[in-house]
Amino acid sequence: MNATAFRFVLRIKQNSMNMKKLYLLSFAIILFAACQSQGQNPVVNEEDHLHFLNQITYQSAMADSVNNEKVERSEEEWRQRLSSEEYRVLRNNGTEIPFMNKYNSHYEDGIYICKGCGQPLFHSETKYNSRSGWPSYWAPIREDAVDEKEDRSFFMVRTEIVCSRCDSHLGHVFDDGPDPTGLRYCMNSAALHFVPKGDSEE
Ligand SMILES: [Zn+2]
Repeated sequence: MNATAFRFVLRIKQNSMNMKKLYLLSFAIILFAACQSQGQNPVVNEEDHLHFLNQITYQSAMADSVNNEKVERSEEEWRQRLSSEEYRVLRNNGTEIPFMNKYNSHYEDGIYICKGCGQPLFHSETKYNSRSGWPSYWAPIREDAVDEKEDRSFFMVRTEIVCSRCDSHLGHVFDDGPDPTGLRYCMNSAALHFVPKGDSEE
């Protein structure tokens, strides 16, 4: 083989190597893009979300201590996880109809957790009958489980209560509650999920 022919063969070989590299690179980019789009849109529907809440036990809720872990979700994610009524209450500051809601007359032993993120919010030991038509408690389970916000809607000045972990609307707090705090945490049932104490020990 003379020098010109050798260079020609070498160039063909190099070209085919470059094509192979290009194919591999394209394949890697497509695969990466597919993984990325899956990571950005985890589909967690209402059923999956309920399954997640149902896995929280009385013991794990009691052991859930102070932390600053914030739960942030896009509006689309909230819509996928919650029913339309839950979304209206938790994400759009809605109020449900008095007396016609799930936990108004509910007095089992257990813990009420946030329907949005599962954070423990109220213990049944602080629940009482306020005759308002909404589930009422004289204190949250931990002081930092809820945050307060000023609410000036409907020509009133009220104190809105939100979940400190996911910032979802829960209800309002008023100062006409019973001892020992004198407070009435007036909540929406749609914002809560009940975890029964059952036969479990403390
Ligand atoms: Zn929450």
